[in-house]
Amino acid sequence: MRLMRLKKVAIDLDGVLADFTEGFLKITHKLFPGRVANDFQPREWYWTDTELDNTEVKAILKELDNTENFWLNLSKLDESLEWGDLNGLPFEFYFVTSRGETKGLSTRVQSEGFLYNRFGVSNPTVLVVETPTAKPQIYDALGIVASLDDFPFTVYTCSKLLRKHRAFIMEQPWNEHERRVYKMESVKTVKEFLEKIA
Ligand SMILES: [Mg+2]
Repeated sequence: MRLMRLKKVAIDLDGVLADFTEGFLKITHKLFPGRVANDFQPREWYWTDTELDNTEVKAILKELDNTENFWLNLSKLDESLEWGDLNGLPFEFYFVTSRGETKGLSTRVQSEGFLYNRFGVSNPTVLVVETPTAKPQIYDALGIVASLDDFPFTVYTCSKLLRKHRAFIMEQPWNEHERRVYKMESVKTVKEFLEKIA
């Protein structure tokens, strides 16, 4: 029997698999009713394209930290993505996130629960890193050959610093400018990413 070599790939959570925007908006509406439209999609990374000022965004983030199991309860970003469709593909998945801690379960346990509840991924490998800047080193150390993220900085540093690694950006309104300026390899879906690196 031939052994199948599994390619190690890293997938970010928020803005790729999890709908952080929806979770953030819920808190925004609770703290500042009527200030931001229900269907608002940020086009800037730090929500600088809203009416919210710095202090208000900080208050929202503080409330987020105080929301019990915030990460566990986020929705799927792409309703059409079924993890079962990806079973049997020659990949070993690492879910890598720089989420902070909130009230309730640890970020790692919440993220594992999210992947199980929303996608049916059992025993997912979740790595919670201190900051996005740690991602390239971790991918290098683990021999991760491809990654998908929505944060331009991470994609850019991975593609500049890592050899034998392909870093892709998930197309989102909040990274449109950077991904074009820096000519990043982009995809619209997780499936498209896996097809490209197969
Ligand atoms: Mg992200």
